[in-house]
Amino acid sequence: MRVCVLTRVVNFCALCYHTIMIDDIFSSSISYIDTVLCDGETPANISAAAHILKQGGLVAFPTETVYGLGADALNADAAAKIYAAKGRPSDNPLIVHIADVEDVYKLATNVPEQATLLMEAFWPGPLTMILPKRELVPDGTTGGLKTVAIRMPSHPIALSLIRESGVFIAAPSANTSGRPSPTTAEHVYEDMQGRIEMILDGGAVGIGIESTIVDLTGSIPTILRPGFITKAMLENIVGEVAIDKALIEPDPNLRPKAPGMKYTHYAPKGKLSIVETSDVVASINSLISDYTGKGYRVAVLASAEHADEYQCDNILTLGQANKGETIAAHLYGALRECDARSIDYIFSESFYQTDLGGAIMNRLLKAAGQRVIRDE
Ligand code: AMP
Ligand code: MG
Repeated sequence: MRVCVLTRVVNFCALCYHTIMIDDIFSSSISYIDTVLCDGETPANISAAAHILKQGGLVAFPTETVYGLGADALNADAAAKIYAAKGRPSDNPLIVHIADVEDVYKLATNVPEQATLLMEAFWPGPLTMILPKRELVPDGTTGGLKTVAIRMPSHPIALSLIRESGVFIAAPSANTSGRPSPTTAEHVYEDMQGRIEMILDGGAVGIGIESTIVDLTGSIPTILRPGFITKAMLENIVGEVAIDKALIEPDPNLRPKAPGMKYTHYAPKGKLSIVETSDVVASINSLISDYTGKGYRVAVLASAEHADEYQCDNILTLGQANKGETIAAHLYGALRECDARSIDYIFSESFYQTDLGGAIMNRLLKAAGQRVIRDE
């Protein structure tokens, strides 16, 4: 089959379009792949992406949380390509994306009542459920675990891609392992150019941090990763919900249930510290002056309330401190911007104030390697 794709050429300044043939994408190379960046809302591009997935290739696509790097979840060779493209450790399992609730039962067994209730309440949406896997899900997709992570995203491009390809899509975030997750197609291009066949551009994502992960293999649903769907929202549907120990007390000796939790994540190249002193603005200004005085490039991740009070060339405002959704949406972009500006030291305010504070601070603390500056 020859499928035409209208693409935006991989130059973000010049919006030029050209037509390529899907066969050319595959013939381009084995080690270096000519990555096609194209408009994800164009049906022909979704068809081309679906074709790539069916052939065992890699496509990055927008979801409502962050951009995903997708491959056929039931094809172990395709899933292996995700690990290679990201440089991801092979014991860090992938989330399988589906477009119809019934598909859960094709991938998982012993689906408890609580899972059914949560699917009804939050799917399609930013909730991933861990369930016992069926035989057909390859170990290569689950990092050798006997459980599988499943989510139904709500982004229309993601749903169309899953439906049109007819495959379940294994997709972690579409960043190089360890880097901040991508919230725009440009971020994906930065990391994945030359490594994957196609990127569907759907603009900036809505939520900006990864899905909430809930383990449903025990008697009490347990949060393994906080996200947009909060503990209170889950409890509203299923009663008692626990938080995994590794989230409460990060301990290197504790084997986390979500293997991904043990790896460095979301980290910018510069050294990030979170400042939680009694006078945050004064402390950060003093740190800025110390470090710029030593010749380093310094940035601040600021709330809108305090942004004007910093004496710094690189102030990245995440949003009003009481608007968790705005802060979440800007967080990863700001960390990447620090890299783009070759920042050496980053100082961030804390953002605990909202319902999303737990999820935001989970990402920020990981990005900071848990470094927090407090009063002495
Ligand atoms: P990401 O790579 O950002 O998509 O993150 C996927 C997360 O889901 C990682 O932290 C994984 O460890 C976690 N995960 C995926 N599958 C499982 C599973 N079967 N059990 C526990 N955690 C999982
Ligand atoms: Mg990730």
